Amino acid sequence: MAMNLLPGGHWSVVPPNLESARLILVSNRLPISVVEGDDGPSIKDSVGGVATALKVCWPVDRRCWIGWPGDLSRFAPVDVSMVNRECGRRALVPVQLSSGEVERYYEGCANSVLWPVFHNRIDRLPLENHQFDAYRAVNERFADAVVDVLDDDDGRNDIVWVHDFHLCLVPGLLRQRRPGQWVAFFLHIPFPPLEVFSILPDRRELLEGMLGSDIVGFHTTRYRDRFIDCVRALVPGARVKDEGVVYEGRRIETCAAPLGIDADDFRGEGDDQIELEMHKLHTNPDIQVLLGVDRLDYTKGIPRRLLAIDRLLELRPELNGRVTLLQIAVPSREKVEAYAELKVQVQQLVGRVNGKHSSLAGAVPIRLVSHGYSQKQLLSLYRAADVMVVTPLLDGMNLVAKEFIAARTDDDGVLVLSEFAGAAVELRDALIVNPYDIDGTARALGAALDMSAEERRDRMRRLRLKVVGESPRAWAEGFLKLLPFMPPVLLGVGDER
Ligand code: UDP
Repeated sequence: MAMNLLPGGHWSVVPPNLESARLILVSNRLPISVVEGDDGPSIKDSVGGVATALKVCWPVDRRCWIGWPGDLSRFAPVDVSMVNRECGRRALVPVQLSSGEVERYYEGCANSVLWPVFHNRIDRLPLENHQFDAYRAVNERFADAVVDVLDDDDGRNDIVWVHDFHLCLVPGLLRQRRPGQWVAFFLHIPFPPLEVFSILPDRRELLEGMLGSDIVGFHTTRYRDRFIDCVRALVPGARVKDEGVVYEGRRIETCAAPLGIDADDFRGEGDDQIELEMHKLHTNPDIQVLLGVDRLDYTKGIPRRLLAIDRLLELRPELNGRVTLLQIAVPSREKVEAYAELKVQVQQLVGRVNGKHSSLAGAVPIRLVSHGYSQKQLLSLYRAADVMVVTPLLDGMNLVAKEFIAARTDDDGVLVLSEFAGAAVELRDALIVNPYDIDGTARALGAALDMSAEERRDRMRRLRLKVVGESPRAWAEGFLKLLPFMPPVLLGVGDER
């Protein structure tokens, strides 16, 4: 935060001027992928969602983005130089990570330790070695990269916006290096309850890192409240006041800002081939299609979803041969052991349920697809589904649920949604289920299949009103606009607000 020492020992704050400030985005990955062609590597921009929103919410000449460009180790030095030059042209600042850093900071700490703990899955923690030293070292490198691009003006003209659980320490490290800097932080995944967060040996350092920000954002008030509980219990000297935290003479605001999608992206034409295949699936024989679209991640509740299908067919045998779950399970984090185990578990369960309920006449209760689809292809899948099944055990937001609604310009289709997805706070007109309750989920799937056309339309219209009114751009702008309203006076030691 930009500050001046005033007579009497108080600090005054100069709020950032959003009309002139530069925005420095910091995330683990840069919003690009480096692809290999015949003439060497080239850069492709990531399209859609947060990446696009963050680009369009700020003018290009006042913006830069710092992050890892992905693994470049297979490229010759001359090609890596080309990638760096190309990044420079797009105001991207690459932070190169060695394969050891990727293994220990990204796969070892962020994906194997923080991800399960933040998602309440401490059963998925490795027995030892949390690799926090590597996490700290890489966070230091990111903080150094930020300082390198800052204007030398004590933070008045730059806003640094750090994203997600890979980089929790960066705000605190920046505060040490540049005490006057404006820093914002947004966590894109859930924040766990105190008893769960407390198991992390480096819990206090993580919280102090996040408290280096001026504002900390979450998708829901529940996650925000849990963060505040943890700060109250685990950070000596921090005081909680009016949903903010007073710490080391500064006030840190917290907020809940749910991320939306751009519904316009899901209005257009779908993919002809997928439409043809889905048409065949529906008509030969006449089948209702339940659809699941997830990364193959243990937070997404896929095994229990498969058991709910099994239960549905036990409870309602007349549905056998008349329904099928099309489960898209996109491979993810395959180097992490817990994910390899999940893959085997899902394949075994699909085999078991299909073995139990398949018939010579052609009933196939579950169709598992182990690869991803483009947005255009997904659009056709969303439109062809009778019921969208989104039953994560815990999910920061879940954009698939919102995309399904955006795609249903026909006001039809039913969404079955886990109460533990962040999206459930807004999407109350879905059929809300507890994904741990397999019988209850099975009954909800049955109710979705039976729902009258009128009720489907009424619910979908109400859901669409929510989703169409949001956008990632509005989310980003709304979050950043909170900064100029931050407290005008920094606290001296012992002061209260
Ligand atoms: N997605 C995709 N192709 C697929 C499956 C998913 O492009 O085959 C996209 C989907 O459209 C959504 C994102 O991946 O935008 C998944 O986001 P979500 O918040 O649902 O879950 P996450 O994977 O981030 O945990």
